[in-house]
Amino acid sequence: MCCIPKLMRISSISTLMKISMDEHFVQQALALASQAFAANEVPIGCVIAHNGEIIGAGFNLRNTKKNTLYHAEIIAIDRASEVLGDWRLEDCTLYVTVEPCPMCAGAILQARIPRLVYGAANPKAGAVGSVVNLLNNPAFNHQVQVVSGIMEAECAGLMTEFFKKFRKNNDHISL
Ligand SMILES: [Zn+2]
Repeated sequence: MCCIPKLMRISSISTLMKISMDEHFVQQALALASQAFAANEVPIGCVIAHNGEIIGAGFNLRNTKKNTLYHAEIIAIDRASEVLGDWRLEDCTLYVTVEPCPMCAGAILQARIPRLVYGAANPKAGAVGSVVNLLNNPAFNHQVQVVSGIMEAECAGLMTEFFKKFRKNNDHISL
């Protein structure tokens, strides 16, 4: 019995450490989202961490590249796969400022990424619970642990600011 409080204390410390790690990496993803904003792109940034180290990073470049594949997550997955020399990104966490779309959620599944952390929900295109949930469907052979709402206000605020600024002149801009 005397061990129980001790164990609980250790587990809450490790939970706290995980939360601050998550915040740290979402902060890095936010810095990339700001770069997307500066490039007149929908401000979404992503990093992939492996053993506490960033091995892949990217921000949305869809308009710059004139290619729908250039979402932040796809770019980060591409780089991380190159670094690990494997299409399987096991033991990795993907951090992204906004809930992934169906294409990126699909790529997360395909890459066998075990953990996703995102900031703001995407009610119009999110595929991690907002519109559909591709990451926790028991019919698939891979499920992803999801943590949401990390630095949510900052991540959502950047999106709101972007759409306020560009919507008037660029009606075609959407997620
Ligand atoms: Zn996407």
